[in-house]
Amino acid sequence: MFKTIKYGSGYGQREFDLEPYKSWQEREILLASSLNEDEFLISGIDKIFEYLKTNIIFKNDYKLTKNEKIYILYMLRSISVSESINSKNICPECKKPFDLELPIENFVKMPENFQNSFELNDYTLYYKDSFEDNEIENYFFKIKNNINSIETSNEKDIENFINELNIEEEIILKSFVEQNKTKFEFASIKKCPYCKSEFKIPMDSDSFVISILSEDSLISLYKTISNMIFHSNYSKTDIDNMIPFERGIFVSLLDANLKELREVKK
Ligand SMILES: [Zn+2]
Repeated sequence: MFKTIKYGSGYGQREFDLEPYKSWQEREILLASSLNEDEFLISGIDKIFEYLKTNIIFKNDYKLTKNEKIYILYMLRSISVSESINSKNICPECKKPFDLELPIENFVKMPENFQNSFELNDYTLYYKDSFEDNEIENYFFKIKNNINSIETSNEKDIENFINELNIEEEIILKSFVEQNKTKFEFASIKKCPYCKSEFKIPMDSDSFVISILSEDSLISLYKTISNMIFHSNYSKTDIDNMIPFERGIFVSLLDANLKELREVKK
């Protein structure tokens, strides 16, 4: 059961297959994020992404930006748990708590004036990498360190090409990079149902992304597993190999059966 994901074009084109993660993987993520919470919430996206790489089959050897990793984690979550997030919020203005249903959308925003190649001096530059907003300032440094990801139609060394650029040409190159990157918009602006003030949900923060990968806490997940083993014929291995949304279906069927049994007994 795979889902194929495609986005971007030209240098930013990506294609890969995603396989839903299993209950045992969900449990390990919950375990890891609760054991070393501080460290995890700082570098969490990279760690979780490395951990879930076994569920991703890339069509090519891509160099992924942090936003791309976040996007892939959202897509993995939507096929493993559900397509919408039940988000618990506290209004920053009136301090009242409330729940919100956040759909997992296609967060990809294609560049408006896409150019696959770029002419400057004697060169045609085919630019194949993509950059995030906060990385643009370092684009020059990055290009120098990613020489292999740039092809020119000219034999001349790409490093010479970069070294020969004057300030004006650098600005042109920079705007080319800026215009052509695949953008992602994760931010969600919502209104408080009580005081109607607007607030932003940081859907691209490490802690938020990690929190959406499971609808359970470690304790509620262990409770579910022990209840399922106690009231049904499932073994721990059976449950571990269920996809989280599958497990949810079994739990609700089990609850309905137990309720029926109680009714009969009355
Ligand atoms: Zn409010």
